[in-house]
Amino acid sequence: MKGYPEAVSRLIDAFARLPGIGRRSAERLAFHVLRESNDEADALAHAIMDAKTKIAHCPICWNICDATHCSICSDARREAAIVLVVEQPKDVLAIEKAGSFRGIYHVLLGRLDPLAGVGPEGIVLQPLLARLDDSTKNAQSVAVEELVLGMNPDLEGDTTALWIAREASKRGVRVTRLARGLASGSQLDLANPGVIADAIAGRTGL
Ligand SMILES: [Zn+2]
Repeated sequence: MKGYPEAVSRLIDAFARLPGIGRRSAERLAFHVLRESNDEADALAHAIMDAKTKIAHCPICWNICDATHCSICSDARREAAIVLVVEQPKDVLAIEKAGSFRGIYHVLLGRLDPLAGVGPEGIVLQPLLARLDDSTKNAQSVAVEELVLGMNPDLEGDTTALWIAREASKRGVRVTRLARGLASGSQLDLANPGVIADAIAGRTGL
């Protein structure tokens, strides 16, 4: 036998393209799917297509949502002048769980990583600058007064924070950063709600 049948190879290739999945894990997943019933495999395929077709990015904050705008940008009780910038949708979830932040968000969907070739065009930075430049592009058409930087405290997070801070200060927008109750290198989505609430309350100027 030269290799796996073509359909199996394609499935392994598809799994291997997922982040964090190496060749051997991809093989394991593919053979798991082959062992499953048709119904289970069908449910997996449908869940993937459902997520792709029903979920979009909010055109204001780029968080994932299943309506034209996300529930946070649509909520008139939120303080739209304060925008907390995070790397991923899961960070929004973690901060919302802490329950003490009343502003709104901007999700970068990544961070600057010059060594890996990710520059400003590779993440959602231009739409953030557009929100600063034009209040009609922000939620409730409110001008942004403060950016709270919530990037993870590591090299790439710091690089991203500095880039944003420079652009924001050119535009006269106040920039603060979450207080470092979060241990260096810690991930926002793994921090407990009390630590996140303290980090928001104790945010410092940059
Ligand atoms: Zn939104």
